[in-house]
Amino acid sequence: MSVVGESYLVGLLGEGVLPSLTPPLHEREADEQGLRYLYRPIDLLAVDGGGEVDATIARVLDGAALLGFNALNITHPCKQRVLAHLDEVTASAAAIGSVNTVLLADGRRVGHNTDVTGFASALRDGLPDADLGHVVVIGAGGAGAAVSAALLEAGASRLTVADLDAERAGALAASLVPRFPAATASGVSPDVLADLLGDTTRPVTGLVNASFVGMHTHPGIPLDAGLLRPDLWVADVVYRPVDTELLRAARAAGCRTLDGGGMAVGQAADAFRLITGAEPDRERMRAHFAAMIQEGR
Ligand code: NAD
Repeated sequence: MSVVGESYLVGLLGEGVLPSLTPPLHEREADEQGLRYLYRPIDLLAVDGGGEVDATIARVLDGAALLGFNALNITHPCKQRVLAHLDEVTASAAAIGSVNTVLLADGRRVGHNTDVTGFASALRDGLPDADLGHVVVIGAGGAGAAVSAALLEAGASRLTVADLDAERAGALAASLVPRFPAATASGVSPDVLADLLGDTTRPVTGLVNASFVGMHTHPGIPLDAGLLRPDLWVADVVYRPVDTELLRAARAAGCRTLDGGGMAVGQAADAFRLITGAEPDRERMRAHFAAMIQEGR
């Protein structure tokens, strides 16, 4: 295959990023398109031996710009902290205070958030007629913020964010309300989930797990499976494993489900488009993702 046009150098900054599937997703799609594209994971703990995070972010951004990187993807625990190191941030990323893609060009650092668009496209493709009347999001961290913004942008009329740290949930809801005056958003403690999901007068229509519960490192389910009803759609952002305990319980209860693979592919595809200007083949990326999961990567 002949390589045409510009070349691209990209990195992924975060903790424990070496096994991430995002670099091979980008590189394979670039190969398919005949682009010269290298994508390297940069483990936060390997820089400065795990020193102060803000200093490390600054060092990596400076180094990446100096070495001619086109972009960095940013992941846990840097998505919020990286904002202080940027020249410009898109309105959508600034609104949730979280950036997962930094474009480096013309001496400037511009932050974007493709977790928001990635979840939006996954929901559109995977559950196209999902009722967004009242959606409960569990987890108010970076993923919860991205999912919540995507749901409100997609037209959710009522959003409840539940987090063990109820203050964090309340702060996220309060930060979203001004952008979506037609919707209502509130933050609660997970203790009230039983009452919320049992309320038939203003029924919850959809549920998204945006906490890390269900990951292979944090096995389990973030709510009592007995609360799941067949008229509820259920999505998970966790994708290691793709088939989480929550999704299995939801299917057993008769719910329609959406796994975290769609968002993982969507965020990668949107970042690829921002970095290269080329339109990725999302189906091809989805198939590659599924194959890597199948291989146990
Ligand atoms: P985070 O640590 O910033 O936030 C997680 C939040 O969940 C915390 O506020 C925590 O208090 C809350 N929480 C934990 N257990 C809970 C429970 N039982 N009930 C209610 N709240 C609970 O983490 P994050 O960066 O937001 O990531 C969360 C998950 O999302 C991770 O598993 C990550 O891999 C996944 N993620 C997936 C994608 C994707 O593309 N599919 C993208 C981003 C993140």
